[in-house]
Formats: sequence, structure tokens, C-alpha cells
Amino acid sequence: MIRHALAGLSLAELQNLLQPLPAFRARQVFHWLAQGVPSFEAMTDLTLPLRHDLANRFLLYSATVSQQLEDNDGTVKLQLSLQDNTRIEAVLLSDNEGRKTACLSTQAGCPVACVFCKTGSLGFSRNLSSPEIVEQFLHLSSIADIANIVIMGMGEPLLNLEALCAALAVFTGDLGISRRRITISTSGIVKGIRELASKRLGARLACSLTTADPTLREQLMPIARANPLPRLHDALAYYQQEQGQRLTLEAVLLGGINTREIDARALGAFVRGLDVVINLITWNPISGLCFEGKPLREPSRREVERFGALLEQQGIQVTRRFRKGIGIAGACGQLGFNPHKQMDTTMSDTTR
Ligand code: SF4
Repeated sequence: MIRHALAGLSLAELQNLLQPLPAFRARQVFHWLAQGVPSFEAMTDLTLPLRHDLANRFLLYSATVSQQLEDNDGTVKLQLSLQDNTRIEAVLLSDNEGRKTACLSTQAGCPVACVFCKTGSLGFSRNLSSPEIVEQFLHLSSIADIANIVIMGMGEPLLNLEALCAALAVFTGDLGISRRRITISTSGIVKGIRELASKRLGARLACSLTTADPTLREQLMPIARANPLPRLHDALAYYQQEQGQRLTLEAVLLGGINTREIDARALGAFVRGLDVVINLITWNPISGLCFEGKPLREPSRREVERFGALLEQQGIQVTRRFRKGIGIAGACGQLGFNPHKQMDTTMSDTTR
């Protein structure tokens, strides 16, 4: 018999599943799950017979933490094995003030196949369910108090919109996390941006633009063919109009590829009419990824500074993302292993 896991469910789902137990019992269980409780046994305000009964009928978590890797900069990466042996990763980032951000995955693998991303190079396994998304947060919460959530892990969240929205409802409803503390990062799925805007969920939106040169963007991010820049611009403007928020555009800088003056000018032209900040992300090294037959390389510090200055000269606000988690392959674009493969028991898979 497959036992249902309780972690990641909304309070209403939990109440439903635990019937005929009274609602206050479901609230107690939910409270424990939100604390990242390690076992039913540890739910000390439940009677002992009830704890035993729940342990016999249900699982606490559907995912198993197969590895927990920690980098010198405080980044923690969890490798999770789901009930069907699908594997995903979730990351806990730490800023200079010690505030923690949970970076969550929405898909195992990714169908978008950006050429600079390890997850994209793995292919697509499946969408994650809402509880599987929320459960990543709960596992990370058991390590530290979390201030922010970014939906920037494995996968394209707007290609799994239904589960994403259900997970957001749990975060902002039952778990009481402010919408303003949640950022959804998309590769630029026009239909998904418009749908998300219409729902007015209030979460912040980040769009990975990478380049505003249409030909180059299609080469780097094949999804751009079906989501051309003019339509993407209109969708972002619509999101801004519906949510009244400043947008973040992300540009992963690839050495010698999208750091030319012409790229900075094209980005400047693209953002006209939008209220944005551009986040420059130095590409994090991933072996084996190539563009036009040549291995990708990190941009030099000078290249990044010059590119940022060219944007600032056009009156654009620019931020530069600090690199975190490189030592455990937990940095931007580095997440992933073969999602179909069985678990490893060594660290060699993900450590450099
Ligand atoms: S960058 Fe994001 S959208 Fe692109 S392949 Fe990687 S996970 Fe998918």
C-alpha cells in the first residue's frame, strides 16, 4: 500500500485527508510540518496512540534527502529523491547579513534547454506537484529560518503553472510568507507571464533575458523562437501594469558571446517603457557546455564591469549577483544530475 505523505499539503488538504480527526488536530500536524519536524514521534502535543496511528497510515515526507552539501560561503544544497526515484535539488542561499533564501525547483530536469544551463542539458523528466515544491521549502526550513523564496531552481516554473500557483497559495496562505518575499524566475514564457499577471498573486517576477539580440537569444535559449522579444516585452509590460511592481531582468553573461557593446545597446532598447533592474549574473562554470562548437567560458571581471557600465550609461539600474555555492555546484545554472538516474551515495557527482 502506498502511504500518502503529509508534508507540502495545504492545511485544507491535510484536514480533508485526516478526517474524521477534528480540524484542530490537522492544524497541530501542519504546525509541526512547518517546523520541519523529523518524525511523527516528535509531535509532542498529539497523544501517543495518535502519533503511532499517523505513522502507520502516512509518511511524513515524500522526498528523501539523499545528500546535504555545504559550501564555504554558507550555501547549502539538498539533493532530494522523490517517491518515484526522480531526483531534484533545492538550495539555501545566505546573503552577507545572514538572511536565508530558499531556491526551489518546479520541474525535474527542464524542457527549455538553455545552452548555458546544466539543468537544461539534462532533458526533461516531469513536472513537480505542489506538495513536492512546498516540501523542498520545509526541508530547507529545518536547517535555518528562511526570509525569502526564489523559484529559480531546476525547471521553468511557468510551464508548471498550476502546481506553482497551488504552492504559492500554501506559502502565502497557510505558511504566512509575504508575497513580496517570493520571486518567480522565468526564461520568458509569454503565455505564462500573462496568466500569472491575471491571477494577481503579487509575487515578484524575474525574467532571464540573457540578450536582447533576437538571433543570439534564439540560439542561446531555444524557447525564444516561440516567445519572440516583442511579445515578451508586451507580456512584461502587462505584468507590470497588473502588479505595479518593478521587474528584474537577468542577464547571464557568457564570455565573448553576449557582452559586446551592441548587446548592451540592445538591452537598453528592450527595457524602454519598462521599470526594471537588470541583474548581471556571471556565468558559472559547467563543463561540457558549448556554443557554436566552442566551450563556454566565464566572462572576465573587466568584461562584466564594462558591460555593466554600458548599461548604466543608458540610465539603467544594474545589480551584480554575487556568486554563491560554486563549490557544491549549487550556483545559478549549475543544478542537476541525470534526473532519471538512481541516487548516488558519493559526493563526486556534484562536487567539482
Ligand atoms: S536556465 Fe532555467 S529555463 Fe533555462 S534550461 Fe536552465 S532551468 Fe531551464
